[in-house]
Amino acid sequence: SDESVKESVRAEGGMPPSRKAEPIVKYRGINKYFGDHHVLKDIDFDLYPGERVAIIGPSGSGKTTMARVLMTLERPDSGTIEVGGRHLWHKEVDGKLVPADEKHLHEVRGDIGMVFQHFNLFPHMTILRNCTEAPIKVLGLSREEAEARAKRMLEKVGMLDKIDQYPASLSGGQQQRVAIARALVMRPKVMLFDEPTSALDPETVGEVLEVIKEIAREGEMAMMLITHEMSFAREVADRVVFFDEGRIVEQGPPSKIFGNPESDRLRDFLKRFN
Ligand code: ADP
Repeated sequence: SDESVKESVRAEGGMPPSRKAEPIVKYRGINKYFGDHHVLKDIDFDLYPGERVAIIGPSGSGKTTMARVLMTLERPDSGTIEVGGRHLWHKEVDGKLVPADEKHLHEVRGDIGMVFQHFNLFPHMTILRNCTEAPIKVLGLSREEAEARAKRMLEKVGMLDKIDQYPASLSGGQQQRVAIARALVMRPKVMLFDEPTSALDPETVGEVLEVIKEIAREGEMAMMLITHEMSFAREVADRVVFFDEGRIVEQGPPSKIFGNPESDRLRDFLKRFN
C-alpha cells in the first residue's frame, strides 16, 4: 500500500514517493521585515502533494510569519511563493520581480485551508452555518450541497451531533474540531495548522491531535503543521523543519531530526522537551 511504501521510504531516511511530483507550494528567497526586524531570511521551502511537514522551533523564530505569507495575510518584502504553479505575491518577468495581481491572490487563497491557534468561529452562527457560509458564498454551492458536505466533515471530526449549537456552548477542543471541519469543507489542496492546540485546555488537546492525525492518515492533502507537540510531530510528519531566527536551520525525516540532530541549536531546542 501507499502507507507501507511511505513507511519504508521514511525508515530509510528518504523522501516520500510523492516527491517525484512538482511541489504544490514553493517558497523561493522569501524575506520579511517588521521595521528593522528581519523575521524571514531567504526562505526556500517546498511542500509536495500529500506531504506532511511539521515546523518546529522557538517562539519568535518566524514560523507563524512563514504561514501568514502563504495565507496572504502578510506580504513578503522579497522572494516568490507559488501554490499549484500560481504566483502569490511577486512573479518574475524578464528576471525582475513584479507584483502578482489580486485576482491570483483570491484564487490561490482557496487552495489553502488554515486552522489557527484561536478557532475564531462566528459566534452568532450555529456550528452548521459556520461550516456552510464559505462554500455557499465563495464556492457558489447550493445550501443543500454545502450542508451535505459540511455534515460529512463534521462527522469526520466527531461533531455531527452539535450542528445546531452555537460555538459558545462548546469546549475549546470541540470548537477547534469545528474549525478543522470548516476548513476541510473547502477541499483545500494544502492544510495549514498554526499551533492548533496551544490555546486549549490540556484535557482537550488530545482529541484535536487525534482528529488531525486521522486527516493525515487518510488524506491526499498536503499539510503544514506548526507545532510545539514534539511527539505529535514525530508521529504525523513525513518531514520536520526546524526554524530558528528566521531561517530553516535543519530539516529531515522525524527519525533524523529527533533521533540524530546535527546542529547545536536543534539539540538545545529539543532538550527543552525532555
Ligand atoms: P513564531 O511563530 O515562531 O513564534 P512569529 O512569526 O510569530 O514567530 O514572529 C516572528 C517575529 O516577528 C517575532 O519577533 C514577532 O514579535 C515579530 N512579529 C510578528 N508579527 C509582527 C507584526 N505584525 N509586527 C511586528 N512584529 C511582528
